[in-house]
Amino acid sequence: MTPQELKNLRESLVTEMGSLENQLGEFTSENPIIKGDRRSHFHETDPSDSPSDKAHSVTEFEEERAVEQNLELRLRQIRGTIKKIDDGTYGVCENCVLPIDARRLQVVSVARLCVDCSKKIRLA
Ligand SMILES: [Zn+2]
Repeated sequence: MTPQELKNLRESLVTEMGSLENQLGEFTSENPIIKGDRRSHFHETDPSDSPSDKAHSVTEFEEERAVEQNLELRLRQIRGTIKKIDDGTYGVCENCVLPIDARRLQVVSVARLCVDCSKKIRLA
């Protein structure tokens, strides 16, 4: 990967990181502004909830939780990848320390392992 390609990749990762942080912010109740949002969201449901409505909101909560976990995972991958670009270790397999195939990196820009190692670890 050329330094220019690396720079472009880093920029797109930083952009994605920003949008992920925004999306995750919507899940975070610590932020008072967001909390207000969330409260109004829950007030959309009728206060005299029937049991089926309650069940519905629990499912919604679980779905949100799953989405949140996916966002956090992706965010961790992106942060780790940006750190590697900055450290100059991007594109090196974390397991065998060999360069990761460029084609793999084009498909999975946050790949931490080469194809062989990812197969081995998946099978292990
Ligand atoms: Zn490897």
